[in-house]
Amino acid sequence: MALLRSVRGAARRHLLLAGLLAAALIPRITVAQAADSVRLERLKAEALTKVDPKLVQEIVDQLFSYSELGMQEFETQKYITTLLKAKGFTITLGYAGMPSAWVARWESPAGKKPVITLGSDVDGIPQASNRPGVAFFDPQVAGAPGHGEGHNSGQAVNIAAALVVKELMIREKIPGTIVLWPGIAEEQMTGKAFFVREGLFKDADVALFTHVGSDLGVQWGESGQNALISALFRFKGTSAHAAGAPWRGRSALDAAMLMGTGWEYQREHNELPTRSHYVIRDGGDQPNVVPSTASIWFYFRERDYPRTKALFERGKQIAQGAALMANVSLDTVMIIGSGWSGHFNKPIAEVTFGNIKRVGMPAWDSADVAMAKALQKELGVREIGLTTATTMNVGTPVPESQRMGGGSDDIGDVSWNVPTVTLRFPSNIPGPPGHNWANAIVMATPIAHKGAYAGAKVQALTMLDLLLTPQIVADAWTYFREVQTKETKYIPFIAPTDQPPIWLNADIMARYKPELQKYYYDPKKYKTYLEQLGIAYPTTREMLKPKM
Ligand SMILES: [Zn+2]
Repeated sequence: MALLRSVRGAARRHLLLAGLLAAALIPRITVAQAADSVRLERLKAEALTKVDPKLVQEIVDQLFSYSELGMQEFETQKYITTLLKAKGFTITLGYAGMPSAWVARWESPAGKKPVITLGSDVDGIPQASNRPGVAFFDPQVAGAPGHGEGHNSGQAVNIAAALVVKELMIREKIPGTIVLWPGIAEEQMTGKAFFVREGLFKDADVALFTHVGSDLGVQWGESGQNALISALFRFKGTSAHAAGAPWRGRSALDAAMLMGTGWEYQREHNELPTRSHYVIRDGGDQPNVVPSTASIWFYFRERDYPRTKALFERGKQIAQGAALMANVSLDTVMIIGSGWSGHFNKPIAEVTFGNIKRVGMPAWDSADVAMAKALQKELGVREIGLTTATTMNVGTPVPESQRMGGGSDDIGDVSWNVPTVTLRFPSNIPGPPGHNWANAIVMATPIAHKGAYAGAKVQALTMLDLLLTPQIVADAWTYFREVQTKETKYIPFIAPTDQPPIWLNADIMARYKPELQKYYYDPKKYKTYLEQLGIAYPTTREMLKPKM
């Protein structure tokens, strides 16, 4: 006890001394901090004037015109990496075993840390081709893919911000690394878990992700998204003449259909936040041949890792049952994609939100509002036009009891490996159903350009905050370690042997690319993509009605 008391006494004296020392240092720290904040403010004000709206417009329009699906984002890759290489970034092509993936990295001559990574998805949606600025279904190339999720806009946000900040870092000798990367095949939730596994975020301090929305916003904590496993179930049977000797055939298609039916019985027992859906990828070739192969592709979505895993296990049992009933074999169960539910970082979200308030929503003009209202009318939803008010508050965690399921984004996997936020920027309108031609329509119009320009300004300001205020990065990691991952540890859904499904969408792109190529944007000849296509903005049904 005596020893303990004397140790305590010494500790108390040490504390006192430390306190006195700290008090003596306070005025100097404050002066230094004041100088830092003046410099930060000066650079932020300068950055706002330097983000280039023309560059934003060109990237948005260019990617829109490519209309590439997941794993086939090759034109997008060539265009962006050429641009970034010319700006001094070191490019890695085919990152993590995905040929259409890339990473662009630049280290400041003043030093490597902090490492800020900037990501955004780049893939499109099947059958979502539509002429931009036209407020009704009017495909550019009938049946072709299009940017019906708006993934043509996020890279513009990141690149425009990164180039401004890089220039300031060189001039001001600010240390740090900028890493740009694409969300490959986000619609299949396929790219980011492989990026994580390859080590893209190993030395990263922060991940700033960005995704199109109809407002400017950011959130911290549990996102309310569902986690997801996407898996393909392949059945193998025996072919036979479907009329001449059907008793000699065993139909793999029967098993695929029985699995779907079996799953419908399971659905009754799923918890409310569950989402699951499937398509038959291979249902045989022609009716007079008993299908010897068939496959069914499922998405299983639940709130977290254990519940999503359990759902997948149930799916596998039903697949085995279906194979037994059809007297065929379950040949393969292949994970095609996966992702955790996102959890976003509080200190970074709060800093980002401060910048959102500063930048504010774009000033929409009457053509933008007319475009939005015409499309809303076409879709039969409320004609509310565009979001004008800046989001009032930073988004907060969605409580477990309020999680009612919904979509997913494999940024979740990144968010469990490095402090991450997703910045939403207003390049689309409120109202469309998602994953639809209607979500593509404004994505190469002034609405998309203005929204991404506002997003780029926020992103540039946040990067400067992170580079010049090391405490934010330190706080971000404290939150990450002591709150977010205190009890929940990341386990990837993918096994070490799982490989990225690089064949995804190759057949669809092979079919449509020759036709889509005719409409690739040429910024040397045309100011905008709308100008190249000769589309009046907006083009509405009202305008096309014959005048009496
Ligand atoms: Zn998306």
